[in-house]
Amino acid sequence: MSRYWSPIVKDLQPYVPGEQPKLNKLTKLNTNENPYGPSPKALAAMREVLGDGLRLYPDPNADSLRGCIAEYYQLDADQVFVGNGSDEVLAHVFHALFQHGKPLLFPDITYSFYPVYCKLYGIPCEAIPLDEDFAIQVADYTGINGGIIFPNPNAPTGRLLALADIRRLLEVNNETVVVIDEAYVDFGGESAVTLVNDYPNLLVIQTLSKSRSLAGLRVGLAVGHRELIEALERVKNSFNSYPLDRVALAGAEAAIRDEAYFRECCDRVIADREQLRSELNTRGFDVLPSAANFLFCEHRSEAAADIAAALRADGVIVRHFNQRRIDNFLRITVGTVEQNQLLLESLDRFF
Ligand code: PMP
Repeated sequence: MSRYWSPIVKDLQPYVPGEQPKLNKLTKLNTNENPYGPSPKALAAMREVLGDGLRLYPDPNADSLRGCIAEYYQLDADQVFVGNGSDEVLAHVFHALFQHGKPLLFPDITYSFYPVYCKLYGIPCEAIPLDEDFAIQVADYTGINGGIIFPNPNAPTGRLLALADIRRLLEVNNETVVVIDEAYVDFGGESAVTLVNDYPNLLVIQTLSKSRSLAGLRVGLAVGHRELIEALERVKNSFNSYPLDRVALAGAEAAIRDEAYFRECCDRVIADREQLRSELNTRGFDVLPSAANFLFCEHRSEAAADIAAALRADGVIVRHFNQRRIDNFLRITVGTVEQNQLLLESLDRFF
């Protein structure tokens, strides 16, 4: 540890992302990427940008992309914010919108970046236990707080909270910002975007990394009341005026406009998820209901760590968390039919 480090960095336990292996041979079902490629129209739009245009800075306000997202959701462009992946959008949200004197509330089992951002920005936090079925109980989120955040569907559980519950949460909690992180919503959830004009304290975050197969491009977005968006713009413009490059702006816009391809990929993933769920069931797994592109499951007799290690030895990577209460669970991304089959064959060799 260097004596030149700030006190915050000395204490920081950075977020550890899932493994990104260098070997293409592996069946990678550990970080919830989409098994299908990006929209061909998005690829064409990105190819078109590659040329002399890259000499020039991109539009710092991302007006065209924000306009496209606004049109898609029938909102105004000043209700839309975009950033370099939803992780960056989230970083700005923690900076700009959560009150620092009171605890930020989030579930005890959730996206593990949230406590890291709290530490980084000096925000106190309180982890609210999920119920015995791993569901979020909105009645538990009524205490004094400096904001509330959770993914819907939640990660890594995949469990979905109904829009009526989110409405209830917003009704009782109108003093602080409620952030719904919808990274996985397109795989079976109901988006809270439809509520943003009713609740000035609601911010919805989405990403193009999952349902639009663009994890490598790094594009995330937030929608909400224009005053919330203005706060995010202020932080962004104090940090990096050009978070999205020209390739990302073009690719993201074309991907959002290609609704048919998006729907087709989501429908396939949802159908394959349900097929995989029943296959896992017959192999002795209890599988939580999932509205995401992954399944969260526990084997009825074998230890999750042993199963993960055996799969890894066979070239199949799934996610195992060394965390209280879920350390006997595996989170398995839904892959192509072929990838899911490789997973099942590997399990059959193990059992
Ligand atoms: N929120 C949740 C709940 C996630 O699981 C992820 C992906 N790890 C993200 C946000 C970040 O996604 P990205 O930065 O790729 O947009």
